[in-house]
Amino acid sequence: MVDERVLAQRLISYDTSRAEELVAAAGFVKGWLESRDIEVRHHDHHGLPVLIAEVGPVADGDRRDGDRRGGDRGDRGDRGDASPPCVVLHGHLDVVPGRPEQFEARVEGDRLIGRGAYDMKGGLAAMMCALKDLERQDRVGVRLICVPDEESEDLDERATDAMVRLGLGGHFAITGEPTDLHIGVEAKGVLVLRIEVHGRSAHSSTPWLGDNAVLKAIDVFRAIETLPFSRESSEVFDRPSINLGRIEGGDALNRVPDECTMSVDVRYLPGQDPAEILAQVQAIPEIDVTRTFIHPPVTVARTDPYVRALRDAVSRAVRGEVMSVGRDGASEAAAFLRAGIPAVEFGPAGAGHHGPEEWVSVASLARYRRALCDFVRTLPMHLEDAGHTRHGAGAPGQPASAAPARPSGLATAARPQLPAPAPTVKALDGGRR
Ligand SMILES: [Zn+2]
Repeated sequence: MVDERVLAQRLISYDTSRAEELVAAAGFVKGWLESRDIEVRHHDHHGLPVLIAEVGPVADGDRRDGDRRGGDRGDRGDRGDASPPCVVLHGHLDVVPGRPEQFEARVEGDRLIGRGAYDMKGGLAAMMCALKDLERQDRVGVRLICVPDEESEDLDERATDAMVRLGLGGHFAITGEPTDLHIGVEAKGVLVLRIEVHGRSAHSSTPWLGDNAVLKAIDVFRAIETLPFSRESSEVFDRPSINLGRIEGGDALNRVPDECTMSVDVRYLPGQDPAEILAQVQAIPEIDVTRTFIHPPVTVARTDPYVRALRDAVSRAVRGEVMSVGRDGASEAAAFLRAGIPAVEFGPAGAGHHGPEEWVSVASLARYRRALCDFVRTLPMHLEDAGHTRHGAGAPGQPASAAPARPSGLATAARPQLPAPAPTVKALDGGRR
């Protein structure tokens, strides 16, 4: 049996913060799978490689590059056929930049240390191994989607969005972001604002004659921190996150700056309305506000039969309590959820992602792989139990998850349709992007 730790170490050796090494690493992944008789398709997305590999029964139509309408969603809809469920294992191969020595992974005790070990080459390696482990079962289609641009800041349409649009989103997706073997059912949305603050120039010897735009900008930021939206909470989150990430103002030492621009990154709660947040910020006097980036929050029903099956499998693999957690960072699970496909974040244990001492627990990688396999093998039973003669959690044409934006009030997780034991929930720190 292939050792997921060895594979992870190999993946880490590519500096995939750079395009050329991303291409090389994707070539390695493709070769690794093909040498194990798993067919791999290659898509080009803005010049970067996206890989798709499938095992088990995947509907014939899905094997073709499908811009056929709806893709898997069509199967889930009105045809009422008994095509098998398709589970997507979603991982990203790119990492944030690191020091050269971080690309030579090392093992210390249970820790595999290196750039991307935790976010998320460890998880990706375990997913690749799980795909191979699952090739002989014939009740669930399993599709690995490996994307190159999760960490990218500036793409309007990321590879994951494109794959979902092509109908490759399956019926349920697990994105292998680090969650310490908990199941991420909620993630905050992202709203980035550029704010221009205007003041009045004067000579620095008489600053009282001017109006310092930089100082004013700090006051504006403090005002944003106390707006009504900033005090709201949800079941798993105490508050939205608000960060002043960039500020630029002033040109000469002996002049009072009359212009200042800052970028404020608001991570808002499921259930909050970004338009309302924007309106509250815009109501602050003497500023101009532009929305520069938006990414929706993620919420999936914990009673979804796929989520239940996963939680059962994980609790068997870790012999402990499995928590449904909220994630402060944005998630590519949103790309699936927007298409009505339930999706969660679920990844191994570790710490320090994006930091200088990033590591993943080697033992958790093995448990992660086992949980993924167990999940797929027991899924048909769960779907039958849930009375889903057709796979899928939602009514035909109905999004399986709902994260409706509400104009105000407290954000809450999607409400169960069935009575269920209340799982433990908490926010897990560690946002990304
Ligand atoms: Zn990641």
